[in-house]
Amino acid sequence: MPASDVTVPADHLMGVFARAPIAFERGQGVRLYTEDGEEYLDCLAGIAVNALGHNHPALVGALKDQGEKLWHVSNIFRIPGQERLAARLCELSFADVCFFTNSGTEAVECALKTARIYHVAGGHPERFEVISFEGAFHGRSYAAVNAAGNPSYVAGFGPELPGYIHLPFGDLEAVKAAIGPATAAVIIEPVQGEGGARAAEDRYLRALRQLCDEHGVLLIYDEIQCGLGRTGQLFAYEHSGAAPDIMCLAKALGGGFPIGACLATAEAAKGMVLGSHGSTYGGNPLAMAVAKAAVGEIATDAMLQHVRDVAGYFNQQLEGLKSRFPDIIADIRGRGLLIGVKLIPPNRDFMQAAREQHLLIAGGGDNCVRLLPPLIISQDEAHEAIGKLEAACEAMRAAIAAKTPQSVSA
Ligand SMILES: *Cc1c(COP(=O)(O)O)cnc(C)c1O
Repeated sequence: MPASDVTVPADHLMGVFARAPIAFERGQGVRLYTEDGEEYLDCLAGIAVNALGHNHPALVGALKDQGEKLWHVSNIFRIPGQERLAARLCELSFADVCFFTNSGTEAVECALKTARIYHVAGGHPERFEVISFEGAFHGRSYAAVNAAGNPSYVAGFGPELPGYIHLPFGDLEAVKAAIGPATAAVIIEPVQGEGGARAAEDRYLRALRQLCDEHGVLLIYDEIQCGLGRTGQLFAYEHSGAAPDIMCLAKALGGGFPIGACLATAEAAKGMVLGSHGSTYGGNPLAMAVAKAAVGEIATDAMLQHVRDVAGYFNQQLEGLKSRFPDIIADIRGRGLLIGVKLIPPNRDFMQAAREQHLLIAGGGDNCVRLLPPLIISQDEAHEAIGKLEAACEAMRAAIAAKTPQSVSA
């Protein structure tokens, strides 16, 4: 064996991901196909990205059309597609203005900067603290990992950034105690994704809104995962009626094309003036064309009603599985098609068992797996997914029984 085979890693990628030993060649709707033609049912959707499934004609058409016209010009020029998409997103939400990014993390970065400079612009530079919640995920930049505070994402990267305060999720008293004259913003996912599909209660979000108003603090929603139809409303905050001052979007916004957006009220964005922020790629014509098509497909009453219907079916069926497999399933949670299944055996084992049934699901914190199917999943396809989950539960049960002492001695 040549020395290089020993010393050089199996590939030239940084080893930061635990990758499943599987590679896909193409996709269609909620199905993915490997090179040797094996078919998988996709209830992961690239972590809530492929909201319209794979190979959606509206997205492919928009990409092809724009691809033959113009990809990129730089934000030193007017970009009409950006102006139109910003207007549409503002029309659909609480917001007045929008900044386009290439990713969710960058949308969070923009939101945090917008919040801090808002207070500087208002003559209160001492207000720079950001309150966030345990189990949060806001991305992987320094600001994003420090904002979320997950110790395993912060450790090893130098001193923690000052000005980030982490409180238990859903604990209003803790926020009351922490919020004050040094607070710039509160950032929260209305439904935590990575943290294990935990939905904040509507009345909790309303109370947060009120607390922020009382203290002159900006409320930031990270709707990168839960926004854009995933919960059965276009934006998850609509369930509560408590609108934010700033909101981050990404994932479903491009349906697989990398794009993010930071939306804000004109007031909240008042510090973001000439030169305070920027991006080379953010909002380029190619991204705008795809995102416009994605928003066009998602932001319809029919799509949102469909999500609520299929989500209702999933929920009812999963509750049934939970009662039949109390040794496997501990809890069903989340909102809409951001579904969390808390497990008793290790979630990694369950994901593998699901994969053996050719069903793709995502992991999550708190020993959950997440079902994040494309929003276009039909009731029949949802039924198929439930059948595969049931088979995975059976397989897990059998595997656990095979490990118990009785069966060893039998
Ligand atoms: C995925 C995600 C992010 C980070 O987005 P990237 O595009 O990976 O940078 C931030 N917040 C939430 C809630 C997410 O789900």
